[in-house]
Amino acid sequence: MADPLIALHKVAPGVFELSGLRTVSIRDQMLRARLLVERCYAEGLIAPTRPLLVIGGGVAGAVATMVAATLRIPVVLLEQQADLFTRQLLSTRHLDPTEYDWPARHWREGKFPWHTSRPSHAGPVMPLPYWTASAQHLGIAWQRLVSLWEGQSPGNTFATIIRGCHFTKTMLRRSAKQKDWLFLHHNIAQLPPNPVAFGAAISCVGFPHEKRFVPAAPVPGKKQYAGFEFWGDDPLLLPNCGVPVASSPLRVLISGAGDGALQDFLRVLTGGNAKALYDALFSKVGLQHFIPYYRPPGYRFLPFAQTEDEAHRACSFAAKDGHWTLDQWHSAYVTEIDRIWTFWGPKEQQRLAQVLRPNVEVTLVHPCRHFGFCYGLNRVLVLLVTRLHAQQSGRPVAEILQSGHEVDAVDGANHSCGDPWVCHGKPHEVWIRSADCFASSSSSQLLGTFQSVIIRHGATPQPLFGTAALPRQVVPYHDLF
Ligand SMILES: Cc1cc2nc3c(=O)[nH]c(=O)nc-3n(C[C@H](O)[C@H](O)[C@H](O)COP(=O)(O)OP(=O)(O)OC[C@H]3O[C@@H](n4cnc5c(N)ncnc54)[C@H](O)[C@@H]3O)c2cc1C
Repeated sequence: MADPLIALHKVAPGVFELSGLRTVSIRDQMLRARLLVERCYAEGLIAPTRPLLVIGGGVAGAVATMVAATLRIPVVLLEQQADLFTRQLLSTRHLDPTEYDWPARHWREGKFPWHTSRPSHAGPVMPLPYWTASAQHLGIAWQRLVSLWEGQSPGNTFATIIRGCHFTKTMLRRSAKQKDWLFLHHNIAQLPPNPVAFGAAISCVGFPHEKRFVPAAPVPGKKQYAGFEFWGDDPLLLPNCGVPVASSPLRVLISGAGDGALQDFLRVLTGGNAKALYDALFSKVGLQHFIPYYRPPGYRFLPFAQTEDEAHRACSFAAKDGHWTLDQWHSAYVTEIDRIWTFWGPKEQQRLAQVLRPNVEVTLVHPCRHFGFCYGLNRVLVLLVTRLHAQQSGRPVAEILQSGHEVDAVDGANHSCGDPWVCHGKPHEVWIRSADCFASSSSSQLLGTFQSVIIRHGATPQPLFGTAALPRQVVPYHDLF
């Protein structure tokens, strides 16, 4: 049987793509990178006499490089930026390698790999450790660890990490005579004169373009609106989201229904991270361990785990995220949220509303009646917190979750948009139009004025060499043996 990992990521003989895939958490990428290098080695595609070329110095590229060097395979890593891990370096986001595995049992582990006390379950340790911390903290730590490793043997013997080198596809060619070799045609001071021969190449270039723009209202001279980058700095966790406190609440609009939008919805409304919020909501009644594993009377399976399993199976086989799968996924959660809400009762609901920040009002605009493909933890928390927010602010749930709509235009009332730091805190008029999975309306309506507008419409995958054979892959949690 062909090796499934090789078959899934191969885009041409000896050429592999680790970009443009889903699921694509940092941990998924680490595991994919390590396993792919080990399988290429096992298949003889790379060897001490057949070097490896890695393009892109994020977590995937760094892990691939370190694993190859440990196997004594000469490896060259090309990174376009001045250093590795720049995606994490500029961001204050909270990262946790396991929290989004909720409701799987290990979701509280907070480190990867986690079964270190049971070596038989851990397999070889990852060359870079991953623990719960801010993205910036991890980026700095990983940079230091790689620099230290570069200075040591065997890392420095087998790996050449070249920073500040932008790779383009045309630099890599196959010769008509030696078809199982790839040749790098580019003069790089640290490498022998070109062409340099490689047994295989792995692209780890990540997601280059995030969709965080919407048109301005069609008024001459207005620029399109740009929101904060997901992997950039933003003031949303500062008191009152970094806006001087006024007598009326700060109004924030978030557009999107994937993990980026839902994560920011929780950050803005509660000022914290998902695990801490989950504990705050469930600790008093001791439900933090109970909820995911609770089987209500009449149910055959555990509801959240069952729903996640069904949805992931369906989505990994579908050509695109189908309406009925997403809808069923979402409505199963809504049913469970109803149950939790009733279980809490009015007194507990009022007490729990204290998790919300004062003086902030959030509206989430998203097409259709369901959220998109997103983590269960984000979905369950957003649905619960929306109810608490509705109760506290006196706004109906339907006004907070503007389901069935998409943002049509954003217009800075007294300034020109374009830089999110300039826009943040200033009034913006937001127009929306009705939209579902099948169509959107052509007529626009004014939703209101918001001081902060966050656009989380995902990222455009741009794999370097081509799309992997199966771009939707459910990645294992554990090592494979
Ligand atoms: C909006 C959004 C939100 C996300 N949220 C989370 C989250 O909360 N938690 C989580 O675990 N994951 C999250 N992810 C996924 C996470 O960003 C990726 O899993 C992870 O960064 C991928 O690592 P990587 O090494 O594959 O790519 P990246 O980290 O993107 O690294 C790619 C590297 O390749 C370099 N590069 C690109 N093109 C070239 C070229 N032509 N030549 C040389 N170098 C090049 C880049 O400079 C970069 O350093 C999110 C992703 C997006 C887009």
